[in-house]
Amino acid sequence: MSRKNQPAWTPPAEYATLLPAITGNAFNGWGEAGPRRPRQIFWLKESGGHPFGRLLEAVKQRFVSVPAYRDVYALADRGPGKLPPPAETRRVASADSWTRQVKDFALNRPGTRPEGYPGVGSEAELVGIARIRPEWVYEGFECRLPNLIVVGNAMDHARLSRVPSSAEDPEGQLEVCDQYNRGARVVNWLAHWIRAQGYEAKPHAGPWVGSLNLLPAAISCGFGELGKHGSLINREYGSSFRLAAVETDLPLLADAPDAFGADDFCAGCQVCANECPPDAISREKVLVRGTVKWAVDFDRCIPYFNETYGCGICLAVCPWSTPGRAPKLAERFARRAREKHAAGVSA
Ligand code: SF4
Ligand code: SF4
Repeated sequence: MSRKNQPAWTPPAEYATLLPAITGNAFNGWGEAGPRRPRQIFWLKESGGHPFGRLLEAVKQRFVSVPAYRDVYALADRGPGKLPPPAETRRVASADSWTRQVKDFALNRPGTRPEGYPGVGSEAELVGIARIRPEWVYEGFECRLPNLIVVGNAMDHARLSRVPSSAEDPEGQLEVCDQYNRGARVVNWLAHWIRAQGYEAKPHAGPWVGSLNLLPAAISCGFGELGKHGSLINREYGSSFRLAAVETDLPLLADAPDAFGADDFCAGCQVCANECPPDAISREKVLVRGTVKWAVDFDRCIPYFNETYGCGICLAVCPWSTPGRAPKLAERFARRAREKHAAGVSA
């Protein structure tokens, strides 16, 4: 049922005691005209002394207080642990050959999904290559390696649609956890394999934010466009997928971005904005660190995100996420672009 015209959800009063003097949006750079690197605000591993440390601790405590979530990110479900050093002798191959090999590895690694779920038989549905850019690296961190292999794990939409989660019904958020674990397994194994070829490799697996913002990296390597809900829209899976990555110096060929009309679609769609309980999704683009783009109001989203163990409503309700719909929408927008182009040429 649509929430349109209903009053916005407001956080419990005690929530204010967890927040620092600076707002999350100011910390993220809303309204800033100049570019700068992003600041790691959420899921900071070492939050002591961090302005949002008390909030992060509260989010973590709430999450682990539910038995279904407590052990969900166990090491055993996330692939091999400690990485070996790179082999002393480097295997030599062309960038084209390495690119084919890592994509094959990521997409065809045997998976554990039961029948009826996306990705049956493999551990990933999407893979792309990007050159790491400094503006993707969080302040205070560095990335020494030049290339990033980005992996996407499709979520089962029926299960995702059980959000918002509660302690009594954790199913929607458990789907998110399962996909982060699939992503972790494939990037951990891939990093092991790359090191066995004699190259450096460092895995990045959610849900915790690491040194890199994976969202612009995924856009750069062709996973899709930024949606109004602040997440990606992919031409196959809509917004129903999660990201993981491997940073490496293995020679690789970068992929191109894929713009297929999602940004235009968002301009005329308000579904996520209407369904977001705390009204956190901006209906207009916002200036953030020198770029005008779709953005989510952190200060409104995070309290509800915390109360519902990860929310996810905006991903579930996005029309592109409905199984089978994204390819049809992408084709329709591509046809429109071709017709517009043809009309321009014959005019
Ligand atoms: S629900 Fe509509 S506006 Fe929101 S991200 Fe999806 S397509 Fe864009
Ligand atoms: S995660 Fe939930 S609260 Fe946050 S923007 Fe999406 S719908 Fe709104």
